[in-house]
Amino acid sequence: MKFYVRTYGCQMNVADSNEMGRHLKAHGLVETQDPEEASILLVNTCTVRQHAEDRAFSEIGRLKRWKAGHAGRKVVVTGCAAERTKEYLEDRFPFVDLVVGAKSIEDFGLMAQRLLERRETDEELDYAHPSVGDKVAAFVTIMRGCNYSCTYCIVPYVRGREIYHSLDQILGETADRVREGAREITLLGQTVNSYRHGQYRFADLLQAVAQVEGVERVRFISPHPYYMTDRVIEKMATVPEVCESLHLPVQSGSNTMLKAMARNYTREQYVSLIGKMRGAMPEMTVSTDIIVGFPGETDDDFRRTLSMVEELQFDWGFIFKYSTREGTPAANLECLPQELIEERHQRCLELIDRIALEKRSALLGTMQEVLVEEENFGRTRTNYKVHIQGQFQPGEHVRVRITNAQRATLQGESDDGNFTFQNFRQENRGRAGARS
Ligand code: SAM
Ligand code: SF4
Repeated sequence: MKFYVRTYGCQMNVADSNEMGRHLKAHGLVETQDPEEASILLVNTCTVRQHAEDRAFSEIGRLKRWKAGHAGRKVVVTGCAAERTKEYLEDRFPFVDLVVGAKSIEDFGLMAQRLLERRETDEELDYAHPSVGDKVAAFVTIMRGCNYSCTYCIVPYVRGREIYHSLDQILGETADRVREGAREITLLGQTVNSYRHGQYRFADLLQAVAQVEGVERVRFISPHPYYMTDRVIEKMATVPEVCESLHLPVQSGSNTMLKAMARNYTREQYVSLIGKMRGAMPEMTVSTDIIVGFPGETDDDFRRTLSMVEELQFDWGFIFKYSTREGTPAANLECLPQELIEERHQRCLELIDRIALEKRSALLGTMQEVLVEEENFGRTRTNYKVHIQGQFQPGEHVRVRITNAQRATLQGESDDGNFTFQNFRQENRGRAGARS
């Protein structure tokens, strides 16, 4: 019996999908990439922006035919949109067998068991053997929910308040992922660096995860500027496994907008934080999230966002058009005209893409250490995706010379030679600034 998972939204959702997949595998199911082969189809939804929710709902609508195509097929809908609109979903799509909101993901195992016990045909008894995951880059969720209340954001409503996993649980999960083939661990949480459990804080966790046998790289997402403490920066700079890459959502370059969004920092504080981090880790890449067209955003506010992008020279970024989410404080504010939002989105996108291209072009001819995730694809420590000519083993570290930097994914060829992970880092540090 096979299952297929369709995931919308952020890495948190990808991690939740993986976790639910593990529960299904524990019941003997096997994951497939082909919905036609599947008996269970799971749609993990996102509701952060209206567009994401609409896409998930139209996919669910299409599943009526999929379900009718074979006896015993089941449709499961999970995630943030499921949490927000559970009753609506059940009314509009009565053929859905199970709806699991984002707050109940941790109970998914039990719910899945009940669903599987409701077997309707003998052919569903044809269980295959569980497969062993072999993902080189794996996610470990360290906390759920969010204690912030950014005025545009639905997440605290659909995921609830923060709950932290214990250090032991996180280290245990990390070790499990390593046993399944992981070499890189990304720690996940909505404000991941606000982690606290007993006497442990996020900085302690970073160090502890890096020390788990077999872990070669550690990343985390999404950090909040407020919790980017000196201790966290120090661990990033000194623990060798922690990668020199940071995705730090800023949302706006205007203090008026930051205040209206209830982000508890100013542009100046954010800029100085990035300066401090770049001082500690000169090779670090920095990316961000920006919302354009928040209610009340003036031309001047928007210009401040553009000037901040210029000033900080982000390596890449995600630019979002403001989307009204019912129930959030900002939903009561008057929206800007959609054409204006579109226009600002386009301008900001062009700027961020131009800078990103300049940054990537500067990598042409450099040597990069790439951890292979799939045959000919991997990522640098700075989180650039690289296509490598040739075929490699997932988990291998390959020294790659970058040959093409035009596209979002870099291209390169492996550079032969006696290479180990440790000596490459030293060698590369030695030639920092002297591109070869
Ligand atoms: N917790 C993370 C943080 O505070 O940075 C972000 C989580 S949120 C799922 C990912 C991104 O979606 C945010 O950084 C924000 O830019 C964007 N976002 C959230 N709500 C939005 C909305 N109503 N409209 C447009 N973009 C939104
Ligand atoms: Fe949403 Fe703000 Fe929480 Fe991030 S910190 S999940 S943007 S409320």
